[in-house]
Amino acid sequence: MPEAPRTTLGLSYFGNRYLDHANVDLRAMAEMGADFVVHVMSEADLRWNPGTMTELAALTREAGMRAWMTPWGLGGVFGGESASYVVGEHPEACQRDSDGRHLPALCPRQSVFRELIEQWLDAAAAAGVEIVQWDELHLALPYRGAMERWACRCDACQEAFQERFDAPMPGTATPEVVRLLDDLMHDTLAWMVASAGERGMGSAIVLLANDDYDAGMWRAAASLPGVRAFGTTAFWYFYGISEPEMPAYLSTWAERTVQATVGTGAEPMGWVQAFKVPAGREAEIEAAVETLIRSGVTTIAAWSYLACAAMSGLAPDNPDATWDAVNRAFAQVVTARE
Ligand SMILES: [Zn+2]
Repeated sequence: MPEAPRTTLGLSYFGNRYLDHANVDLRAMAEMGADFVVHVMSEADLRWNPGTMTELAALTREAGMRAWMTPWGLGGVFGGESASYVVGEHPEACQRDSDGRHLPALCPRQSVFRELIEQWLDAAAAAGVEIVQWDELHLALPYRGAMERWACRCDACQEAFQERFDAPMPGTATPEVVRLLDDLMHDTLAWMVASAGERGMGSAIVLLANDDYDAGMWRAAASLPGVRAFGTTAFWYFYGISEPEMPAYLSTWAERTVQATVGTGAEPMGWVQAFKVPAGREAEIEAAVETLIRSGVTTIAAWSYLACAAMSGLAPDNPDATWDAVNRAFAQVVTARE
């Protein structure tokens, strides 16, 4: 029997910018068997803490782990509970819905968005980050599946539509509109991955586990040169999946992830939900890690350190029990790879 691939473990870390505290936390994560830490760098961090982020990345390496970074809530188009300055400063660069109403998120087609990403990447590169995680890139409204109200129909998107189809952009999400916006998502990912590569950083692409799933788009994203990990945030508690349904739910998303990555340079990756866990359901975290491994996922990370106990809006009913479950799940992996 061929040897099973080594499972790589990661944790995300946020909510603290005191380096002495971070050092204790990072060493605890290394002790648990984490191979990498995903630090979040929000627009606020970019403005006020770039040097601190560099120190955090250095402490991560000193603790024997790899430093990843994710653009947390940047421009309102990535995952993350963090506000965007640039959205407020550049209303002209924001998305518009199909009726022309302003939306609080930058349009990735606008140059303001690209300038922000380049500035962010420069800071990540200066911090010596190994992998940038492009997390849950999405438009402010869904546009697939005949949505009544969709985005984006900003001036730049209308111009792009006119140029490509030689007709004004309609107010309804026709197949041509969907194609244009699908391509916007793919081209944005491709540009970000290439821009990270130019600065010597690899990329992880993590897409939402929702109705936007499209096998072709996933495969195209995972195949981009420079993508070292590709996966999804199948957060089963968040999506209201019951305990008996969880293994089938997670296997489905894990199989989609593996299908997207097979034969590419990207490791299949799965994020495990360690926030907002209902009381009594903590043990599902261990089952989730087992399910992911059994389905062929080789990079597994948990969101987040200490089960997001510092955020009352995301904390589990019982943060200690949840964090204990993460520890047990990691310990099993560590034992298995010894
Ligand atoms: Zn637009």
